[in-house]
Amino acid sequence: MSIRIVLVGTTHPGNIGACARAMKNMGLSDLALVDPLSFPHDEATARASGAVDVLQNATVVDSLEKAIADCVFVAGASARARSITWPSMDVRDCAARLMLESQQGSVAAVFGPERSGLSNAHLDHCDTLLTIPTDPRFSSLNLAMAVQVLTYELYTIRANIRPSGYEPDAPLATSGELEHFYAHLGQVLTDAHFLDPENPRHLMRRLRRLFIRARPDQNELNILRGILTAVDRKDGADD
Ligand code: SAH
Repeated sequence: MSIRIVLVGTTHPGNIGACARAMKNMGLSDLALVDPLSFPHDEATARASGAVDVLQNATVVDSLEKAIADCVFVAGASARARSITWPSMDVRDCAARLMLESQQGSVAAVFGPERSGLSNAHLDHCDTLLTIPTDPRFSSLNLAMAVQVLTYELYTIRANIRPSGYEPDAPLATSGELEHFYAHLGQVLTDAHFLDPENPRHLMRRLRRLFIRARPDQNELNILRGILTAVDRKDGADD
């Protein structure tokens, strides 16, 4: 189902164009404009660059209710802390939630006007507040940049990209393979008198944590197993 970006009361047409571009870069096309000050506009077209199609297909409506009427989940993006506490998620968690909910129906992320942001009345229509973490002394992003951050987070989930950009060369080691490795490692460390089975402390737990963090792939695990076997063999030769 669709992930819609809703811009409420945008005053700078250039920002609308820049939002359309940010969306298309990240593979999104469903744009709704609530009461834009001026649209269509040359500046919007210019800033959209190659994403004019997103602008041309944008729906223009006169209320937020109309823009989200068919949605099963709505997040309202806001930089400001509110006097009433709304349920709130940071942008990464919210992107994951939007993806999940989009399996049930259309979902929307709503962005406010440049000057004032979303009003509490707008947020009444939202299931959650969405915040992009920033330096607390200067938390308000440019509208299109806020849209870019969210759409990027959505893209990393859809394209299964890890933010680090790391792609394993081989399939990741499975839990069963890791268990064999830990058993082998424990035995070699015991033989080397590094691990005392009578007083193991938290050594194996700490080592597990290290390997869980590293997420070795199968090639890497084979190298580690090979090292343990070589050490084992050398020990045997010395006996
Ligand atoms: N001056 C306004 C901010 C307007 S910026 C205010 O204080 O609320 C335009 C829109 O971009 C905001 O309404 C919000 O939807 C989005 N935005 C900007 N910075 C954000 C942030 N740090 N987290 C979430 N959304 C943000």
